[in-house]
Amino acid sequence: MNPYVMTLLLAVGWGAFIFWTAQRRWRLMRVGAPAMRFDHLGKRFALMVRFALGQWRMPRHRLAGVAHIFIYAGAVIMLLRALILFARGYVDDPHFGYWIFTTGPDGAPLGHLYSLLKDILVVLVLVGIGIFFYFRVIKQLPRMTLNFEGMLILAILTGLMLTDALYDGASMARYDHHASGWEPLGSLLAAPLRGASAGTLTFLQHLGFWGHISLILGFMNYLPYCKQFHEITGFPNVFFQDLTLRGRLEPIEDLEGMVEREETLGIARIEQFSWKSILDMYSCTECGRCADACPANRTGKLLSPKQFTVDCRDNLYSRQSELIKKNGEPAKIDLVGEVINPEMVWACTTCRACEQECPVFISYVDKFVDLRRYLVQEKGEFPNDLQLAFRGLENAGNPWGLPAEDRLAWAKGIDVPLISDKPEAEYLWWVGCAPAYDDRAKRVSQAMAKLLNKAGVSYAVLGPEETCTGDTARRAGNEFLFQILAQTNVEILNGYNVKRIITACPHCYNTLRHEYPDFGGHYEVIHHGNFFAQLIREGKLQPTNPVNEQIVFHDSCYLGRYNDIYDPPREVLRTIPGVQLVEAEDSRDRGMCCGAGGAQMFKEEEKGDKRMNILRIEQLLDTKPQTVASACPFCMRMLSDGLGMKDRDDVCQLDIAEVLWKSVQ
Ligand code: SF4
Ligand code: SF4
Repeated sequence: MNPYVMTLLLAVGWGAFIFWTAQRRWRLMRVGAPAMRFDHLGKRFALMVRFALGQWRMPRHRLAGVAHIFIYAGAVIMLLRALILFARGYVDDPHFGYWIFTTGPDGAPLGHLYSLLKDILVVLVLVGIGIFFYFRVIKQLPRMTLNFEGMLILAILTGLMLTDALYDGASMARYDHHASGWEPLGSLLAAPLRGASAGTLTFLQHLGFWGHISLILGFMNYLPYCKQFHEITGFPNVFFQDLTLRGRLEPIEDLEGMVEREETLGIARIEQFSWKSILDMYSCTECGRCADACPANRTGKLLSPKQFTVDCRDNLYSRQSELIKKNGEPAKIDLVGEVINPEMVWACTTCRACEQECPVFISYVDKFVDLRRYLVQEKGEFPNDLQLAFRGLENAGNPWGLPAEDRLAWAKGIDVPLISDKPEAEYLWWVGCAPAYDDRAKRVSQAMAKLLNKAGVSYAVLGPEETCTGDTARRAGNEFLFQILAQTNVEILNGYNVKRIITACPHCYNTLRHEYPDFGGHYEVIHHGNFFAQLIREGKLQPTNPVNEQIVFHDSCYLGRYNDIYDPPREVLRTIPGVQLVEAEDSRDRGMCCGAGGAQMFKEEEKGDKRMNILRIEQLLDTKPQTVASACPFCMRMLSDGLGMKDRDDVCQLDIAEVLWKSVQ
């Protein structure tokens, strides 16, 4: 077309991108703390192919997912088109396509195929843009932000598609090429242009061509400043996702040394996040799927995971120059309080529903816990209620501060051996604090003991030697307290040479299984749902008494999303004669949190329109159950309270162990 103009555009466009926009974002990312994400390269690559290239998570969102796939596929196909058009700036050939992608009457087979695919995708991209326009402007979906940036991006994408089509149509009309099935869109646009003068056609062809090139280069430079940056960072963000165990929080190593060296515990400021966390911020598409899934957001709390990322990103970008400059200390701006409302940080239940939905694998739980660690350990700023729980854990090893000698009071009249009396027991039953002290949960422990005895399981409990696993302390940000509890428990468990642990608490399960190995505790940990399913399969428990009820099962986040345990508790219920198992609309990996996790059980919920347990119980009641079953003492407390608040004494709330005991006793 015109080599001089093309050279100028490419030099300016790519020069600005490489030496200014991208380079500054790269340096900003490197401000972040180190994070090891170069292990398991094969697995990382496979995940990237599946989730970034294959867009595996998108079909879960029907129309928006389809629209996104159209635009994404269009972007991929248009990358090659950009390379072809860059070259056409230097050759006077409107069909040039690196020989194998040549188009026009004498085009190559691959060129024809590519032209056809490109034309189809141009139309589909326009359809996708229309869908997003409908969602943003007409339907005004709350999860999608209606702002200038979003509209500008849609306008640029539309411009890219229209200029491409105009260039093809005007070229075909100018060179009088016949309509071709390989170039349907170009042929369609060429038809009404055929009578135009040569000058008009040349003008339109150049308008399409140079308009398209300018938009590509301009958009490329705009990308790092807008949410569309994910088109560049989405792939690496999926590639560098956290591959460590989902339920494990990274321990703070050498806590005492850090205190002596006066290093910050937890995260106070944006630049203390890791480079991967900064890449997360670059990669957020602002689709709002995380916020739609978040139980805090759904019940009107201030917390929106998407908004958290956007606020962090705004803070990061606004301070880019001072953070990347080599000389001088950047201003010390605490995130919580100055950028993020503390209510956001304390409302998180650590349920991971947001992470489950995010198409680019942005993590949240680790960030909220890191911020809490700073607030608790450095500033002593946390909800008052947690003070009681911390004190109870410190003084008595349980969040209520109840005497250790009462830990086995629930077992009065039932034969429950202590491990000190039965060190040869095959299984250590880790009872947990709520099942030991909470009046309602004690009945679950009693049912469980009777089931274990009936099945002839060789087990024992720690009794007064057991203390809290520390899950609550850790998720509340009190890493010091957690590590003390973990070390004490590991010492006791290893002292008895424990190898296999069963527990009815998913929070204990998760901590014992995924977090105690960091402290030298390596055990096979089995949740009671799996254990009872196995005992039934082996014929050691035989559910024979009918329980003629419609039962809905509520998935605990720490059992389901954290540990992929969905089927065993359902299997237990299905084996019971008479049980009709029904599913709530939000269930399994999309199950809604009851509101107790992440230390919420021990503090008042943040202000909102509704309590989380009420929303959850309403969802479960929609299935018209006689019984709401669960497999977690925290969920049990929240769901029972929810039923009480809804005045639904007609519906029972039982643990799977209690339902099973009704059938085998
Ligand atoms: S972990 Fe759960 S509560 Fe926390 S932000 Fe994510 S969805 Fe919301
Ligand atoms: S964090 Fe993920 S799910 Fe949430 S808005 Fe950003 S890209 Fe979407």
